[in-house]
Amino acid sequence: MMEFTINSVSARLHQKLREYIEAQYPISHPSLLLERRELLDSPGVISKEPYIEATPVYELGPAYEQMNLPAHCKEAMTYFSELSPSVGIYKRPYVHQQEALESFLVDGHDLVVATGTGSGKTESFLHPILNSLIDEGFNRREQFQTHAVRALILYPMNALVSDQITRLRQLFGDERVSKYFRDHFGRHPLFGMYTSRTPYPGERTKEKDDYQLKEIIDYYLDIEKNRPQLALEMKKRGKWIAKNLTNFRSGKRGDWKSRYLTSPDDRELFTRHEMQTTPPDILVTNYSMLEYMLMRPIERPIWEKTRQWLAEDEANTLILVLDEAHMYRGTSGAEVALLIRRLQARLGITRDRLRCILTSASLGAEDDDSAAIEFAEQLTGKLKKRSFKLIKGVKEKRKPGRIGTTEEAYAFALLDSEQFTNRIHQYDTLRSNLQAVAKRLGWGDVPHNLDELPSYLYKSLDGFGPLELIIEQISGNAKKFSDIAKLVFPSVDMKMAQKATSHLLMLANAAKNNERVLLPVRIHLFFKGVSGIYVCTNPKCEEKRVKGNDSILGKMYDSPKLQCTCSKEARVYELLTHRKCGTAFIRGYISKKDRNYLWAEKGKGIVGKELTEIHLLVEPPHEKIQKGERSVRPVWLDIRTGYLMKSPPEDPEGYLKLYLPHDEANKNKKKKQTITFQQCPCCMRKVQGTITDLKTKGEQPFANLVREQFLLQPPVKLNKQLPNEGRKVLLFSDGRQKAARLARDIPHEVELDSFSPFYWRLKN
Ligand SMILES: [Zn+2]
Ligand SMILES: [Zn+2]
Repeated sequence: MMEFTINSVSARLHQKLREYIEAQYPISHPSLLLERRELLDSPGVISKEPYIEATPVYELGPAYEQMNLPAHCKEAMTYFSELSPSVGIYKRPYVHQQEALESFLVDGHDLVVATGTGSGKTESFLHPILNSLIDEGFNRREQFQTHAVRALILYPMNALVSDQITRLRQLFGDERVSKYFRDHFGRHPLFGMYTSRTPYPGERTKEKDDYQLKEIIDYYLDIEKNRPQLALEMKKRGKWIAKNLTNFRSGKRGDWKSRYLTSPDDRELFTRHEMQTTPPDILVTNYSMLEYMLMRPIERPIWEKTRQWLAEDEANTLILVLDEAHMYRGTSGAEVALLIRRLQARLGITRDRLRCILTSASLGAEDDDSAAIEFAEQLTGKLKKRSFKLIKGVKEKRKPGRIGTTEEAYAFALLDSEQFTNRIHQYDTLRSNLQAVAKRLGWGDVPHNLDELPSYLYKSLDGFGPLELIIEQISGNAKKFSDIAKLVFPSVDMKMAQKATSHLLMLANAAKNNERVLLPVRIHLFFKGVSGIYVCTNPKCEEKRVKGNDSILGKMYDSPKLQCTCSKEARVYELLTHRKCGTAFIRGYISKKDRNYLWAEKGKGIVGKELTEIHLLVEPPHEKIQKGERSVRPVWLDIRTGYLMKSPPEDPEGYLKLYLPHDEANKNKKKKQTITFQQCPCCMRKVQGTITDLKTKGEQPFANLVREQFLLQPPVKLNKQLPNEGRKVLLFSDGRQKAARLARDIPHEVELDSFSPFYWRLKN
């Protein structure tokens, strides 16, 4: 039986990585091999203990009808919330979204929205924008007909902008929403994304139109015509330009200027020229683009029209949203602060007529509310007539937690995690196992139909003390899994506690009430390669993990060290091996002046420049060489001092016999070149750079881990439409290039190496 607990999965991945390292970086001597295995298995070297974290679930507020909002806003929001398919406005928003909307619209506060992932942060500023537009349309209908920038959403970088545009398309791009606006307030709002990727800079020309626009628009039109299903899917996901593309593309014959103009039913402005002609109500950009837009003449009309609209009525205000505002901490913050002041000057308004919403998951997280507001004021300027309000996520209230009993621990431990993982394939077997668990816990009868299992689990586990205790601990907080297990089941041994906790989490994660997952839990597993292996030169080292008489070196370390902690306090050097045969060498450095001292590191500055890298063989050379070939010569290392002796010491105790490449081969070379072996003194093969350190290199180890965890995932659905039965891997990377490389390499990896054997395994 295979276990599917947090620990077993973590251990499996750890083992995969270790096996990969062992296969790719061979060591032939058994004592060295075992010592490295023990080193790799030590906590923190290539993997860390698992952490668990649950996505926080937020408290739901009342329906829009019950909110403190003007009647026309309530009416519109209620209508939007009832649309199906949804435009992203739900019947009951979260309490913090309600608070943001009421504070902004009714109380006139500027906002700092400091809520975490999964909290609907975007809605916290999109809804105030939407309601401000509704309010203007209702109260100042005439002015509402003027095109101007009413909301400016500013991002620190491009990547985040494109993410946002899909949300805008789902709401403001929706035909039903825009019709509501037209029917009630005379026109619908326009939005546009203005970044370096928006086509296109400079004045319009026919050539540029053909080159920069035609191709994109034709691409969309082609999909619409030939792959309508895909077009529909793209529209649903906000990946489609919210405008009439056929109209956009066509024009009067022979008059290129009549093409690519905004039609009355367009919601989205796609080109820079459209926005220069008609400023969008909602403009999304990043701060470096805004900087240009405020300086260049070509964008002047956008600001001129906005300025006029602002001058028309004191009640008109510009909403400025700074999403991911924590990224403006430090020096870039000062630049942004200046930029905001320039924007104000350009529009001829005081700070009080700029209505700011700052959002960030990390602002206000330090429990220092005044610091978050102070930061907001420094960035945007101090308000005279109004003030900032900090909005924090309100988590849903749950029943009190309690520690689990011994009986409960044993009951959960009974669960067959493998059967549970594979439940879509073998529910009948699982059911009898679950029945035994349920009986011990006093739960009702386990349903006969797998479809009813999620709600059965939800009913049984919602409010269950030990689970509530876990939720209390890990909601929005990553905690060590072992600590949680100890806390929840303190009366049983560690192994049992972890097994029971893992099974409990598994059940709670499968528990669903309609679409609501009881415990959306994430497991954080940490893996890394080694940056090198360093080894004590004392074969009798007492610190070694693996004791034995056949030792040729001492304890291994995963980072450089001057000396070992063993009784000899022996020197530590980096271990190298011949990639082809696994023979061990150590890496040292010698200086030209004193060739008798072996440095462990190259060092910096003048010392570093003078040192030459040298490789010394640790194991006895091949018989052929011993019989008189002159390619190696023995040397004795004083393991305590690092001095090298050319002849055998009288008392060999405290010395390590090593072999140097014979001087002749290296004498005539430039002094900077590494002194190494041309031919491996053990396997006799040509070396050519294959005596290398044991540092884990490349992305292959990571690709292996991704593949392995993919294989360990439970199948989600038996559906031929779903590839891999719904298993998924989501990869994030800090660098765009790296992300592109991984995206290219990993699926390839997985498909080629694992898919077929995997299907094979399933069938058998
Ligand atoms: Zn040692
Ligand atoms: Zn070799």
